[in-house]
Amino acid sequence: MVTATDLCRTVAAFLAPPPDYTVSEWADRYRKLSQESSALPGQWRTSVVEYMREPMDVVTDPEVRRVVVKAAAQVAKSELLNNIIGYLIDYDPCPILMVQPTIELAEDYSKDRVTPMIRDTPVLHRAVADDKTRDSNNTIKNKKFPGGYLVLTGANAPSGLASRPIRAVLADEVDRAPMSAGKEGDPINLAIKRTATFWNRIVVLVSTPTDKGNSRIEDAYDEGDQRVRKCVCPHCDHPQELRWAGVKWDNDDPGTARYMCEECGVLWDDTERIQAVRAGFWEAKAPFNGIASFHVPGLLSPFVRLSEAVFEFLEAQSDPAKLKVWVNTYLGETWEEQGQRLDSHSLKLREEEYESTVPLGVTVITAGVDVQDDRIEVETVGWGSDFESWSIDYTVFYGDPSVNDVWERLTQHLKQLWEHPEFGDMPVSATCIDTGHFTARVYQYIRASTRVYGIKGIGGEDKPLVGSPTRNNYGKIHLFPVGTHTAKSLVFDRLRADPGNPGYCHFPKGRDDEYYEQFTAEKLVTRFHRGYKRQEYVKTRARNEALDVRVYATVALELLNVNLKARRRAMRAEMRRIKAEADADQKTLENSSSILPKRRRGGFTDRWKSN
Ligand SMILES: [Zn+2]
Repeated sequence: MVTATDLCRTVAAFLAPPPDYTVSEWADRYRKLSQESSALPGQWRTSVVEYMREPMDVVTDPEVRRVVVKAAAQVAKSELLNNIIGYLIDYDPCPILMVQPTIELAEDYSKDRVTPMIRDTPVLHRAVADDKTRDSNNTIKNKKFPGGYLVLTGANAPSGLASRPIRAVLADEVDRAPMSAGKEGDPINLAIKRTATFWNRIVVLVSTPTDKGNSRIEDAYDEGDQRVRKCVCPHCDHPQELRWAGVKWDNDDPGTARYMCEECGVLWDDTERIQAVRAGFWEAKAPFNGIASFHVPGLLSPFVRLSEAVFEFLEAQSDPAKLKVWVNTYLGETWEEQGQRLDSHSLKLREEEYESTVPLGVTVITAGVDVQDDRIEVETVGWGSDFESWSIDYTVFYGDPSVNDVWERLTQHLKQLWEHPEFGDMPVSATCIDTGHFTARVYQYIRASTRVYGIKGIGGEDKPLVGSPTRNNYGKIHLFPVGTHTAKSLVFDRLRADPGNPGYCHFPKGRDDEYYEQFTAEKLVTRFHRGYKRQEYVKTRARNEALDVRVYATVALELLNVNLKARRRAMRAEMRRIKAEADADQKTLENSSSILPKRRRGGFTDRWKSN
């Protein structure tokens, strides 16, 4: 006889939540990798691709509405999707829709990835009706299991996207999906809409990115909290994001490729790099708003050696189409059309031997100064017609900015005259110094100096390069507000200018790689602010002083408000006038000397001797 207690127990057992597995725990326990789709068939181990643990596990986090993975190729992103599918089928069954860019790709994915996974993973095999039974419950595009089904479809087939409600949508290679599915609009949004009735819906978007400004996965990533992997150096424990600039090699030889720790400078081999990635953690760059977004570059992959990456990079150098593929599939980043992209290598390549310390084209000299905790950095820039520029000098004064010594050295440096082959000694006409750091000391310095101006960066895309100065600061100095976005855009536009074009930037031979890397230390990203898209410069590496001081030197030129061509004409005219005067003086001298022959150079004495 069934007692009330028994009944309660049965009901309780039925209603009891299953053990709390995360996707990675489930996969580590049950998931088997198939021979045909994996280099390491057998039991799945999350630790092999430790960086995929969090992207998998946030899928079941009730706070997360959407998971976005912007990834390189060969980082196990298909296995991420497969593990989620397997987890849902076995452990949390529901209607699942997987969207591939086309129907054909969906069929291939089903045959090559899903079917073998189900065949080789016993818990899934038991749940999904066998293929061979020709059961109508199990076709290539539709797999039924107790409590749900998995539909695989193409983004080019709106009919497959817009029928029954779905709790989990997994969209793969979303950047390769058509922009529109007939009259229905964006096919990916269409698929996502089908989850609307589920409070516990799961949306996972995965892709290798394509073109900047036209990339669903990048938009989705930027909309999320933008997690990046901080990898921990096995030598100094410093956590850092891995970047292409950190990859070093000698003489075009990929075999020498190593990764250089940004902190201690030790070069990692692949084993140490993989170790650093595994010991790392994800860090969000933006506040969490329900979207967990991850960037997985190829530098995290244990399946691609640095030497292979460098080999492909070198192969792609001469061919923009190949380089685009490399940027998309190895860096896992969008491609910017040529002219949009700045890289430190190409800046370094334009170094030239100046014919004189100050090249002939220079009309005006300005300087930019940045104050850091342990040093002051200053760039001296010469400006010519059409804002062509020459970096004349870059000096770092090490020392504590709270004491005078380092400032005195700066003063001497800024007072220095620079020799121009035509115009003679030239002073630095204006210097801008950022007041954001050691503010009181900087104010004091500005009050005591001439032609040194204090600036203060302000955010926002629409701010002018330089605004009207204010004096309502405690230093009572004229403080110029600088539209940081506008200033950086101007500097980047000029850095991108081709030789002979307005704004072209010259660099002298001998600057180290770090200098150029600092120039490319920021990139423009699209952010959403109260629903509006906007562009912001974000740092992509810790140090960017070279860029900052160039911005300040640019602002200094703006403050001079000088017409460079007119100034040059005026200087030439002045030189002609001085020369004419000198010639006139010389003539007067010669005329006068004719009546004073004994005072001519050498005089008669020398001639006498030669006789
Ligand atoms: Zn280190």
